[in-house]
Amino acid sequence: MLLRHTTDVILDREALTINPAKTCQPIGAMYAALGVHGCLPHSHGSQGCCSYHRTALTRHYKEPVMAATSSFTEGSSVFGGQANLLQAVDTIFAVYNPDIIAIHTTCLSETIGDDVNQIAQKARDDGKVPAGKYLIHCNTPSYVGSHITGYANMVTSLVKHFSAKSVTKKNQVNIISGWVEPSDMREIKRIASEMGAKIVLFPDTSDVLDAPMTGKHEFYPKGGVTIPELISTGDSKSTIGLGPFCTEDAAILLDNKCKVKFEMLEIPIGVKATDRFVTTLSRMAGVHVAESITADRGRLLDMITDMHKYLYGKRVALYGDPDILVPLTEFLLTLDMKPVYVVSGTPGKKFEASMHKLLDEKLPDAKFKNGERADMYLMHQWIKQESVDLIIGNSYGKYIARDENIPFVRLGFPILDRVGHSYFPTVGYTGGMHFLTKILNAILDKQDRECPEEKVELVM
Ligand code: SF4
Repeated sequence: MLLRHTTDVILDREALTINPAKTCQPIGAMYAALGVHGCLPHSHGSQGCCSYHRTALTRHYKEPVMAATSSFTEGSSVFGGQANLLQAVDTIFAVYNPDIIAIHTTCLSETIGDDVNQIAQKARDDGKVPAGKYLIHCNTPSYVGSHITGYANMVTSLVKHFSAKSVTKKNQVNIISGWVEPSDMREIKRIASEMGAKIVLFPDTSDVLDAPMTGKHEFYPKGGVTIPELISTGDSKSTIGLGPFCTEDAAILLDNKCKVKFEMLEIPIGVKATDRFVTTLSRMAGVHVAESITADRGRLLDMITDMHKYLYGKRVALYGDPDILVPLTEFLLTLDMKPVYVVSGTPGKKFEASMHKLLDEKLPDAKFKNGERADMYLMHQWIKQESVDLIIGNSYGKYIARDENIPFVRLGFPILDRVGHSYFPTVGYTGGMHFLTKILNAILDKQDRECPEEKVELVM
């Protein structure tokens, strides 16, 4: 038993997090920056932070993740990192030639109080940013929020630095993507394309972190939202934000800055959230829902109907990012499953409000919690008190799943010990079918393994 010291006795904890259900802010900022074409993320802090963030992303996406660092030494930690950052800007443009350097801070540079806004402006004033190139930044102190906060901060920075209103409106809809896989971003674009809706999706990590093997190394892969597209978001008809934790700040800023109205939706996971996305996109873009999309929906409903008997009443524990957990909880309820335990390390009152709305009536005994003390340890303790039939979350849940002999489906960030998550979508109707397949297979595999011999069925 790897986690044999976890007990079912839950004590109040005021200042202790055990196995947090989140990771650090700059990772999110780095991931969002990689969704811009020709962008090199830059970590303003020590090499160790940058190394960890790149490693976490590389392990999840199984792709090399490029990023630069200000490489703080003892001297910069005491006297500030301005000289390092200015030198870095020179070196990066000279050696790596990105279109954009996207700077984010770290605990160290935030703690010593480096004013990155001022340093970036000095770099521009000193002529260190070549014509047609950009230097953007955001603050990501990791002792606040989570990787989701960092992602949201970088997405907001994209709007702050690029979105511009001209005299002519464009017949296009902005879609601000929450933190999902490159495959999910590709699926969102596919849905829009099938419907004939012109969109600007940002950030967009498809063809960046799931780029095909061509035999040739591309330092800046062909994917990612382009700078002209980002600038044009200020002229779009409207904006859809997918996932309030990741995108609402950016959508509000875009509305304030360029008067582009927005609607906030959940990430389209499951039937209902995808219905809302497709309907909203159809209305905003002035297009019909394509027959192919309606057919996808029908196939998902058919699959749910066929497999409902294996899902009905199954108790589920899930953990991870709030923008994923909310629509996932709704999807599980649609399947007549019971999402009894839900945990997110990302703080924010919106999570509780959404969970109350989804669960209070249908599953009043469900337990959910987010923020600092909402950790994997607490979720394990809940499971010890009353077990579940399925666990859904990132790779860190495998220890609990193994100790408690519970089927486990990986979803979210990071997934370090499996492949496929970055290639096959979870969003949309097709993504729903893919995810449903994973849930069913995990449950049925356990049934096949453990049922009495006379109950082994060839045909399910
Ligand atoms: S010091 Fe802060 S920014 Fe650096 S890796 Fe640790 S939590 Fe992240």
